[in-house]
Amino acid sequence: MILLVQNNNEYENDLRTMISAFFPVEKIRTAVPEEVADYKREIFGEFSFVLTALFDESSSRLRIEEKGYVKFSAYAYGNFHDRKRFRNRLKLASYRLLSEYTGKVLPWGSLTGMRPTKIATAGLEKGKDRDEIIDYFQTIYDTSYEKAALATDVSYSEKRIIDSVDPISDYCLYIGIPFCPTRCLYCSFAAYPINEYESKVGDYVDTLKQELAFISYLNRNRRLVAIYIGGGTPTALSASQLGDVMKCVRESFDLSDLREYTVEAGRPDSITREKLEVMKSFGCTRISINPQTMNEKTLRTIGRAHTPADIKRAFMEARKAGFKNINMDIIAGLPGELPEDMSYTLDEIEEMRPESLTVHSLAIKRAAELKEQYNDYKASINQETDNMIYLATKRAEYMGMKPYYLYRQKNIAGNLENTGFAIPGRECIYNVLIMEEKLDTFAAGAGAVTRLMNMENGKVTRIDRVENVKNVDEYIGRLDEMLERKQLGVDGRILC
Ligand code: SF4
Repeated sequence: MILLVQNNNEYENDLRTMISAFFPVEKIRTAVPEEVADYKREIFGEFSFVLTALFDESSSRLRIEEKGYVKFSAYAYGNFHDRKRFRNRLKLASYRLLSEYTGKVLPWGSLTGMRPTKIATAGLEKGKDRDEIIDYFQTIYDTSYEKAALATDVSYSEKRIIDSVDPISDYCLYIGIPFCPTRCLYCSFAAYPINEYESKVGDYVDTLKQELAFISYLNRNRRLVAIYIGGGTPTALSASQLGDVMKCVRESFDLSDLREYTVEAGRPDSITREKLEVMKSFGCTRISINPQTMNEKTLRTIGRAHTPADIKRAFMEARKAGFKNINMDIIAGLPGELPEDMSYTLDEIEEMRPESLTVHSLAIKRAAELKEQYNDYKASINQETDNMIYLATKRAEYMGMKPYYLYRQKNIAGNLENTGFAIPGRECIYNVLIMEEKLDTFAAGAGAVTRLMNMENGKVTRIDRVENVKNVDEYIGRLDEMLERKQLGVDGRILC
């Protein structure tokens, strides 16, 4: 347990996030200085350390104490009421203080909460060149050169995709299938075991089809440019159920402007020749087969009921079915894995030669089993994750890929990132458009979130989220409400 003492809680979220970047699963308690003034030294012994932030109008003092003794201190200069200027200074000062205390350097430095590409894109829009943007990251956030260059290069690549769509007339479609063969240890999504939900899948598909027809009606004069069927694992459906959904898409939407049609075929144990043929026949252009690791032992540990051989089989079947754009997802920092395990996974992937590779850093999310069982795994997870990310980055480059999208999540150990690499021309445009929130995404299915851009004079001024209920039974029973929410969302937004 860590104690955060502060005389003003305006920046509590920033300080918590910074502490969590160094101590991802430690609990943080807060107090005001008056509460701890009479604490005896023994009480401080309950906490691994105490971070005190005393805000003042000219400069604010930060200090770290262990058992009542001050170990390190720092200042954040400027008036803390001037949030716009002060916030980054406070984050940088607290980052440097924690870095000094732990002896750890985080590759993104004090940059938390904000998408790195957003900063790089803002630089591009102001006419800055690559070196100036990299310099900005290094000065304001203590970001390493490699990560600053990564964010900047991704922004250049994203810009090409963003500039190729029209935010007024174009939109994307997401279809959520919230079922999976089994639940992965680290999963925080609404992913229901398909075996237990078998009797409900038919009703789910019927409900989804009604929602898709409504989305098509709402967008009757617009151009659908990208479809993403995700989840869950869409291929957990039977071939005929999957075909039913995809047939509905073909019949409900005008696909003449479609540039990309992805189906997440994440779990190799759910992929069959018949399903691949169904996907192909309904126009799917891109699939994702996600090993996460090619090490059998790790697959068992993380609760995936397939072998590395299943992954290779599924990949070969997909090639035979004619898929020329296949992505693979991997995770760095899985339980028991070391850099040599990552190297092995990369060797195996290199042999298969996918067109894109998405490299995730293990995140310990609140809703995941891993969080509950953290004590059992803490010694074996995230061992040298930054080194594994480095190895994956180099291997992606070796395979002719370039980074094209990038995002970070809360509770990634080491404050690392997830990066999509692709052979130029094989990028997933949906991933970029959803990440950068540049185009409407209409989403169907339980837990799916529609994002509607509000635009004035060509600039996004606000993004409205229209959420579907997560629970499968409720989704089936409350479809009218979901449709009404969408209608209200569309009626209430500004698009000009
Ligand atoms: S395959 Fe994905 S959605 Fe399904 S349980 Fe695993 S992490 Fe969750």
